[in-house]
Parts: sequence; structure tokens; C-alpha cells
Amino acid sequence: MSNSSHPPLVYDLDFPGLTELLKDWGEPTFRARQIWQGLYKNFWNHPDEFSNLPKPLREKMATGLRFEAIEPSLKLDSSDGQTRKTLFRLEDGRQIEAVLMRYDRRRTLCISTQVGCAMGCTFCATGQMGFSRHLSSGEIVAQVLYYARLLHAEGQAVTNVVLMGMGEPFHNYDNTMQAIDRLNDAEGYNFGARRFTISTSGLVPAIRQFADEKRQVNLAVSLHATEDEKRVAMMPVNKRYNIEQLIDACREYVQKTGRRITFEWALIHEVNDTPEEARRLASLLKGLLCHVNAIPLNPTTGYDGQATSKERAFIFKEILEQHGIPCTIRMRRGIDIQAGCGQLASRAD
Ligand code: SAH
Ligand code: SF4
Repeated sequence: MSNSSHPPLVYDLDFPGLTELLKDWGEPTFRARQIWQGLYKNFWNHPDEFSNLPKPLREKMATGLRFEAIEPSLKLDSSDGQTRKTLFRLEDGRQIEAVLMRYDRRRTLCISTQVGCAMGCTFCATGQMGFSRHLSSGEIVAQVLYYARLLHAEGQAVTNVVLMGMGEPFHNYDNTMQAIDRLNDAEGYNFGARRFTISTSGLVPAIRQFADEKRQVNLAVSLHATEDEKRVAMMPVNKRYNIEQLIDACREYVQKTGRRITFEWALIHEVNDTPEEARRLASLLKGLLCHVNAIPLNPTTGYDGQATSKERAFIFKEILEQHGIPCTIRMRRGIDIQAGCGQLASRAD
């Protein structure tokens, strides 16, 4: 990777890796710290910006490192101006997307972990695309830094990062965790682990591993159905890990970490939004420290289910809450810019 024809992507390096590289270049150790802070505190993304470094080192950085992991190829703002979606071109020409949502003081990013997704959920635009490849840790990091830089220029900062863009983060476990660790580094971006949320379609062994690692990162699990037959039809991953195994792993996670788990529920008219379904969900989750995040389906071209109406959504929520399960209805945002999962990249292909 680190030969001169294909120098490393700077965002793929952790601090010891960068230090090692600078040592190989015959540079003093404090240069690594300066570069690290330039990248993660000032959000510089080109060697020319490192005006605190001697010119020969900047030249060396330009040839010995890659800085352009992701190039914005399309930027779309929702009509209310609160949501910005960016389509990025990767170095191999593939495309991913990341979304910024402004809500009160929150500045939440929704970022991607893979190009496409192998899980094949029928209602999901990314699932409909199939899987192309994993993102490297640096390609995940670069999405956050892109928006951090954009907000920094407005005197603002990212407050939350959700890994709910394209891809299944637990299918790309190591790169995802490395990206979080890099952004978490106290000497760099210093973004608190509790401000990340990882969302998974239910890869049980990875949930168990995650529980054992006792990270402070929030966990969301995409459930969407209470019966295996229905869930298999929506989410093929349920063939491998059924609902019982999934909920067992979730209970173990809560036991081990003491952390509340979020269940994601895309409300689909007459498919999983009925009062009976709400009651089944309440009994499935009974006694589990959790919260349900329900969101009316974002329609996609490859799936003919309809979004639940507001009225039905609120009845669903009420039933859950009557049974002691807290529930939030998230209204769809940025619908006019295809801000739903995978929708823009699949259209641009
Ligand atoms: N692969 C992970 C994270 C990315 S998807 C996962 O599945 O959890 C992020 C969330 O968007 C998941 O809860 C997913 O089920 C949901 N989602 C996907 N397509 C959707 C759609 N068309 N409408 C509403 N939610 C959708
Ligand atoms: Fe993949 Fe998540 Fe979409 Fe399912 S919902 S296909 S796991 S991105």
C-alpha cells in the first residue's frame, strides 16, 4: 500500500501509523502531531493548507500521501434548507452519499459504511443496488471531516453521527470501529463515542462482539417485523439470524452494557403498522431497556409498499406506550432530495 505509486490515504492512518510514516521520512515526531491536528482540528484537506509546515515536507506529503478520498459530485438541499445531501465520488469512481440534518441545535450526519449493501432488504434503495465493496476506515472518516469542515466555516460543529447511510456497518465491522476510534481520538477530532449511533439489520455475532467490547457508542437495531415469516420477506438476513436469536442478543447487549437499545421500525401501510403488530412488538420487547424509533416508509422504486399515514403512526405509538415501550415517530425529512437510505446514489448510477 505505501509504495510511491499508491501512497496511503491519509485518513486511513491512525496516529501511530502517521508517526511511523513520518519517522520513515526522517521527520521529527512532533511533525506527526502537527499534521494530525491540521487534519482533525482545522479540517485541512490539502497539503498546501499546512502553512505551519516547511515547504519540502508539504511537497513530500503531496506525493507520499493521498488526500482525496471522496469528491463531492452532487449537493442537494431540501426545500426547507435544513437537510443537505452530498453524493461523493470515490477514487474508483463508485458513489456513496452522506446527509447533514439540522434540527434545533443538532447537526446530525448520516454516513455510509459500504458501497451498496449485501443484506438485500426489499424496501431499501441500497439493498436494491446490491453490494459493491466495503469502505475503508479513511473513506468513512472523510465523510465526517467533509461536513465538519463545511460547518466549521459557518462557526458550527457536528453534534451527532449516525451510521445509517448506505451499507451494513456490522458487515464492515473493523473498518467501522477504526473510523469511530480515529474520530474519537482526544488529540484529534475528539468526537465522543456517545455521539455515534450504529444501526444494524441484525448480525447477531457482531452484536455480541459489540456488547463484549463495551463501547459507549449507541446501538440501533432494524427490526421492522415481529414474525419470522414476515421479517424474512423484508429482510433476508432473518434467514440466518431469526427474531428470537436477535432479541436474545439484544437482551445480552443491554445486560452487559447497561445501555438502552433503539429499535428501528419503518412503518408500512397494512404490512407492519396495525394495532395487532404494535401489541406483538410490545410483548416481544417486554422488559428490555429500549426505545422504538418508528418512521413512515420512504418509498423506493423497487418496492411497492406505502408509507403509513400520520394518524396510523400515532395509534401505533400510543399502543406501544400503553404497554410501557417508549416510541418516537420520526417524520421523514429531506424527502424532496431523496434523503432516504441509498436513494440518491442508486438514482445516479
Ligand atoms: N444497514 C443498517 C444501517 C443502514 S439503513 C441497517 O439496516 O440498520 C438505516 C435505516 O434505514 C435502517 O433502520 C433501515 O431499515 C432503514 N431504511 C432503509 N430503507 C428505508 C426506507 N425505504 N424507508 C424507511 N426506512 C428505511
Ligand atoms: Fe442494507 Fe440496511 Fe438497506 Fe438492509 S436496510 S439493505 S441492511 S442498508
